[in-house]
Amino acid sequence: MTYTTTYTTRLTSPRRKSLAPRSRPATLARSLTRLEREHVALVLALSELDSASAATPDAALRAALAPLLRGDLHRTQYALSRADAGLYGVCDSCGHAIPARRLELNPALTRCSACDARAR
Ligand SMILES: [Zn+2]
Repeated sequence: MTYTTTYTTRLTSPRRKSLAPRSRPATLARSLTRLEREHVALVLALSELDSASAATPDAALRAALAPLLRGDLHRTQYALSRADAGLYGVCDSCGHAIPARRLELNPALTRCSACDARAR
């Protein structure tokens, strides 16, 4: 028996399955809650950056950080707008479901891995 076979057998055995009977809607709801929290954290972080004096010693760091945070904010905003349209977890490009595991890792995703790879 090869390593791959052993691994597959373990993953698909009934004992393994019973350990994680999580439903997609529950997982999506958790990811969406995380997305909302991340969005609020980004809004707060950016308003803090904007209100800081330009004369502080870390002004250069703040200037470098702001565009990164704005990029993240744009992504969370867009993902939330998709959620408002009832399309959270649906690929923006092909319309297929984005695997819940992928959204758990990054709740702001709006594309499946295949479409993401094509867009790069
Ligand atoms: Zn897709």
